[in-house]
Amino acid sequence: MSRRPADLRVGALHLEGVSRAGDETWLKVHPPGLAFDVGRGALQLAGSRDLFVSHGHLDHALGLPFVISQRSLHGSQETRVFCPAEIADDLDAFVRAAERLERVAYRYEIHPLAPGDRVEVARDLSVAAFRVDHVVPSLGFHLIRRKHRLAAIYQGREPAELAALRASGAALEETVEELALSYCADTGPGVFDLEPRVFESAVLVLECTFLTADLSERAVRYKHLHIDEIAARADRFHNEVIVLQHLSHRHSFADLERAVAERLPSLAPRIRLLAGTPP
Ligand SMILES: [Zn+2]
Ligand SMILES: [Zn+2]
Repeated sequence: MSRRPADLRVGALHLEGVSRAGDETWLKVHPPGLAFDVGRGALQLAGSRDLFVSHGHLDHALGLPFVISQRSLHGSQETRVFCPAEIADDLDAFVRAAERLERVAYRYEIHPLAPGDRVEVARDLSVAAFRVDHVVPSLGFHLIRRKHRLAAIYQGREPAELAALRASGAALEETVEELALSYCADTGPGVFDLEPRVFESAVLVLECTFLTADLSERAVRYKHLHIDEIAARADRFHNEVIVLQHLSHRHSFADLERAVAERLPSLAPRIRLLAGTPP
C-alpha cells in the first residue's frame, strides 16, 4: 500500500505496522514475525507464517487472500491463519474464492480460536486469544513469553551447593510466563472488564479511535475507544509501553499527540503512536 509503515522498537520487540480506522490495520511483531491483522494486504506480511485475524471488518481482514497468495507465490511455508471461530467458514470461503480466481493452489490452513485458546508460535513464545468488546465476533491476542530461571527455593544458595544439586539430578529451573504484548484489536471499553490482564502486559497495543466530545456517542455505538475511556482508567495501566492505534480519519496524528499530552499526561511518557506516514 502507499503508506510507509510505522517502525517501533519496544524492549525486545520490533513492531511494524499501519493503522487507521476504516482504512487498514496490520501489525507485524518480531520476534517471532507474526501478524496481528492483515489490513488490505501489506507486502511486508509475506514473510509471516502466522496470521492472526481479530475480526471480519475489512480494514483488518481484506488483505488475507493477498498475503496468502504472495506467500504461495514465493513457495513459503504453509500459512497458518487464526481467527474467531464464528468467522472461520466465511474467511475460508473468501480465500477459496480468491484461489479460484487466480487458478492456483494456496497453501494455508484456517484455525478457529475461542477465547482462552493458545497457539505455540516459536520456542518460548505463544499467543493466547481473549474476548474483546466489538460489534462483530472479535478476539484480542496476548503474546506470551516463557522464561526459565532458578526456582525460588534455590535462590540465594551458594554456587557449589547448586552445582552439587544439579549433579544429583535435581531440577533447579522453573518456568515463568510474562505477557510480552497484548493486542486489543477493535474494542470498546468492555475489554477492560473482559480481560483486565491487558493492564499488566509489557506492551499494550490499544485502539484510540475518537478524541473529541462530539464523537463519544459514535464510539459507544460502534464499540470503539474514545480517549476519555482511556483517561478514566489512567492509573490502572501498568504497561511499560502503550501503543495507540486505529485513529479515525476525522483526526490527524498531530491531534492525537495533542490529545495525549492534554488528556493523558500521566501516561504520555509511555505512549507511542502506530502512525504510518504517507510516502
Ligand atoms: Zn477497524
Ligand atoms: Zn472493527
